[in-house]
Amino acid sequence: MTASTPHVLIAGAGPVGMMSALALGRAGIRVTLIESAAGLNRDLRASTFHPPTLDMLAKYGLTTALIEQGLVARFTQQRDRTQGVIAEFDLSQLSGLTDHPFRLQCEQWKLTDLIMAQLSQLPQVTVLFDNRVESVSQTESSVCVGIRKGDALQSLHGDYLIGADGAWSAVRTQLGIAFEGYTYPERFLVVSTPFEYADHMPHLSYVNYCSDPHEWCVLLRVPTLWRVLFPTKEDETDEQVLTDESVQTRLQRLLPQSEDYTVVHRTLYKVHQRVAQHFRQGRVFLAGDAAHINNPLGGMGMNGGIHDAMNLCEKLMAVLQHGAHAEVLDLYEKQRRTIAIEYINASTARNKKEIEERDPVLRQKNHDELRALAADPISSLAYLRKTSMIDALERAKALT
Ligand SMILES: Cc1cc2nc3c(=O)[nH]c(=O)nc-3n(C[C@H](O)[C@H](O)[C@H](O)COP(=O)(O)OP(=O)(O)OC[C@H]3O[C@@H](n4cnc5c(N)ncnc54)[C@H](O)[C@@H]3O)c2cc1C
Repeated sequence: MTASTPHVLIAGAGPVGMMSALALGRAGIRVTLIESAAGLNRDLRASTFHPPTLDMLAKYGLTTALIEQGLVARFTQQRDRTQGVIAEFDLSQLSGLTDHPFRLQCEQWKLTDLIMAQLSQLPQVTVLFDNRVESVSQTESSVCVGIRKGDALQSLHGDYLIGADGAWSAVRTQLGIAFEGYTYPERFLVVSTPFEYADHMPHLSYVNYCSDPHEWCVLLRVPTLWRVLFPTKEDETDEQVLTDESVQTRLQRLLPQSEDYTVVHRTLYKVHQRVAQHFRQGRVFLAGDAAHINNPLGGMGMNGGIHDAMNLCEKLMAVLQHGAHAEVLDLYEKQRRTIAIEYINASTARNKKEIEERDPVLRQKNHDELRALAADPISSLAYLRKTSMIDALERAKALT
């Protein structure tokens, strides 16, 4: 490596920053990844990998290892809490469009652990834990970040900076970029339990969206647990929602049992639909949650962020290594911001509206439409292309 070796700085070692570091590092680009936490995050967050994401990860030898640690979900279901299955969709219909015609149910931290093992073999990639990006400045030819480790401050210089530092992105704030959208008034509760729902709810798949006029829920399987997502009421305090009694009441309402449920994790979080006004400012880019956040109905947050990372890194490699004009980088915002607005935010907002619908006439209409979609092979393929994010990637490619 010489002083002229291109150098990309990345803020944030979540799945988006880590994938960016791997893509650029494997291409021989010098990378410094700056993470404020002491290590990689191990929280239970995203748990669904969509087919095109698995295709992307396969190029880095990650998909096989993830499949070994996850569950292959060939089917997804739209259910009603009282009526049971409304419609089932078979992802094997996507064969021919993807090498992975299924969803993979696997915790996101398993991906970042696998990437870390690869990064440690790449001498051109440096990972700095316990270092927080606090300031960002740039000239026409370089970018500089001010980072803090305890009381010590230092500056790092690079050719480009990727802000993959999550929903509260310091990079986005430093650039003064607005994060447009809204926050839902209710919070979402995720409860994890080893209880085997499939033994008690006939024909349950690994991914189940259950509509209900009073309390919808999502039932998602990961290898050792079921994760149940509930909305909370606006007037419940965090303390009230998180008590054992309240968690047990919600679980018992969903499926009454004579004994209490074993609860392994409970997480309560605010949910937003927001997209940054710009994804690029000069030599600085926003990707993943730093650029767009959305509700989890559809599993598009992490997946969309990985798609951002792959799109951006391909363009950075073209500019830094293959002499492409820097204008090519403008396409990143055009392509990925459009997808964040038109697909990711639009579909997740629609999914929430449908799952929580209270009007009996509209509920019936939604159910009838889902049944009709699932019964017709052409319509169900169109539905699967959209929900698996294949259409979104094709749309992005068409934006030139
Ligand atoms: C409870 C929950 C459930 C979810 N379920 C799903 C799901 O089913 N499917 C799905 O696709 N998505 C889901 N998501 C969203 C998904 O987890 C995120 O979209 C994903 O983690 C985004 O990755 P990221 O790398 O952009 O950001 P993050 O994972 O947030 O990573 C950002 C990193 O930046 C670091 N950082 C922050 N500030 C700084 C700074 N100033 N300097 C340096 N480092 C910094 C943070 O410590 C963190 O490690 C869920 C999220 C939550 C909270």
